[in-house]
Amino acid sequence: MDVDDTPAEAAVRAEARAWFESVAKIRGEGEGHWKAFRAKTDDADVAQLNMAKAWQRQKFDAGWAAPHWPRHFGGQGRSGIEAGVVSEEETRFDVAANFFVVGIDMAGPTLMAHGTDEQQQRLLPPMLRGEEVWCQLFSEPGSGSDLASLSTRAERDGDEWVITGQKVWTSFAHSSDWGICLARTDPHVSKHAGITYFVVDMHSPGVTVRPLRQIDGAIHFNEVFLDAVRVPHANVVGDVGDGWRVAMTTLTAERTSIGGGGQTGWRDIVTLARLFAVNDNLVLRQELARLATLEMIQRWLVYRVRTAVAQGVAPGPEASVLKLLNSYQVEHTGSTVMSIMGATGTLWHDDAPDAGFWQDVFLFQWSSRIGGGTENIQRNILAERLLGLPREPDPLKGQPWSALPKS
Ligand SMILES: Cc1cc2nc3c(=O)[nH]c(=O)nc-3n(C[C@H](O)[C@H](O)[C@H](O)COP(=O)(O)OP(=O)(O)OC[C@H]3O[C@@H](n4cnc5c(N)ncnc54)[C@H](O)[C@@H]3O)c2cc1C
Repeated sequence: MDVDDTPAEAAVRAEARAWFESVAKIRGEGEGHWKAFRAKTDDADVAQLNMAKAWQRQKFDAGWAAPHWPRHFGGQGRSGIEAGVVSEEETRFDVAANFFVVGIDMAGPTLMAHGTDEQQQRLLPPMLRGEEVWCQLFSEPGSGSDLASLSTRAERDGDEWVITGQKVWTSFAHSSDWGICLARTDPHVSKHAGITYFVVDMHSPGVTVRPLRQIDGAIHFNEVFLDAVRVPHANVVGDVGDGWRVAMTTLTAERTSIGGGGQTGWRDIVTLARLFAVNDNLVLRQELARLATLEMIQRWLVYRVRTAVAQGVAPGPEASVLKLLNSYQVEHTGSTVMSIMGATGTLWHDDAPDAGFWQDVFLFQWSSRIGGGTENIQRNILAERLLGLPREPDPLKGQPWSALPKS
């Protein structure tokens, strides 16, 4: 595999860099993405959202909103690798991103693959312009890893569905206009077969969003209560009862997106090591070499998965390898920055270097191991689909959902 930019990729890099330079300030070396990380107060969260919306609109107006999307949906029709090159360039700049991941990286591709023309025309343009934020209403208090066991129910009432249930860990729900939502429409068939995929207007009567404040003060995810929420039948994505298949598109896109995103790079950590005058430490140098190697492997895996997607091949276990590698990298990054900082690592927020960005990086490793499917679940996928090991025994397989024990 040739890992240097091809002439075409180098041209995209130069074009993207020139545009970003013309509109944004480059991050100082070692500065970290602290503004784009976790806001610790409600006001800071709203300010970040507004900055992110303005930045997304600016990208849209200049044609850079979603380079990997097909042209007829408002993208640039770039290959997965070219789109990766553009996002690598973007991470060098001091810009607020973050809030559009569920929309542009997950809901968008799902609507392109399974949505109706009307859904695509109504929902995709404001998503790209940064006007409407999206969240993912999948996990429930009793259904995370075993997502197909979900209990939120949807009952048909004429041209509408009435959805009732509770979702949890819903990232960005407190800022969202739309949610992609899985609900059970037939409890009398097996758990995977009775699920339907909906698009829910988060401003509908009956939707209550309760933010969950994390130990670091940030609000990232929420509890969402759906109390007889009426959703038009036109908002069903794919066929009724075929929601699990549609959800697979979203979940694969999610793993690829999480695996492709890093909060920081090894060069920032080298700068941090110089700042703390520990860059001569031999053990640390080995760790930095390991991080640099991991980052490169991750980059090439991202290219590989994105190329498959761009060629119309659904990536399978590669997306799980990528997600697993990402959490491994985040874990090692967190431990390394703490060992560099020593006692300074115990400082917090404005008292710490880079406004506590490195403490956030350290703490983020636990989110990264769980969100988008836990490390154990990714390992199960690899065991079954890559190594060909036997599936986990499931004595209740094929039983109707209504007959299954519930947690
Ligand atoms: C930062 C973050 C953001 C998130 N954002 C969203 C979001 O926007 N929308 C959304 O719907 N969800 C979201 N989630 C939820 C996430 O998808 C779930 O937390 C995750 O799927 C795990 O489910 P759970 O928390 O119910 O844990 P459980 O499924 O109860 O798992 C508990 C433990 O058991 C292990 N385990 C479970 N089953 C198996 C098995 N078969 N084999 C081996 N080990 C197993 C797990 O690995 C884990 O260690 C987010 C989570 C985080 C951390």
